[in-house]
Amino acid sequence: MKNCLFCKISNGDVPGDKVYEDDSVFAFNDINPQAPTHILICPKKHLSTIMDMESGDEAMIGSIVSVANQIAAEKGLEKSGFRLVLNCGSGAGQSVFHVHFHLLAGRPMQWPPG
Ligand code: IMP
Repeated sequence: MKNCLFCKISNGDVPGDKVYEDDSVFAFNDINPQAPTHILICPKKHLSTIMDMESGDEAMIGSIVSVANQIAAEKGLEKSGFRLVLNCGSGAGQSVFHVHFHLLAGRPMQWPPG
């Protein structure tokens, strides 16, 4: 989508610190990390929120979880664990309207999240 920051990072119009990319998914370091590891994992297809998912998008979302596992394995996070967070809508804390999962790790996590 033309005016979407994460679409621009995906296609290289805006620089992003990419750590993973394939045909349908890309991942990059968060610009304002909330943990020692804070990576955003996104579908290349523009979806403003997860509520915009359509029939056929399920595999793409599954791929994001697989990429999270892959990144976690590369970073040796299996033992310490990690958190995957998806904010849906401004009331839930979403500020960039292109679906993204936050992969957070490297510090103790609180529950419930704020
Ligand atoms: P949200 O609040 O769940 O939508 O998360 C948006 C995330 O995008 C926040 O953690 C921001 O720090 C991050 N962010 C915003 N702009 C950029 C950028 O240009 N590069 C990398 N991360 C960004």
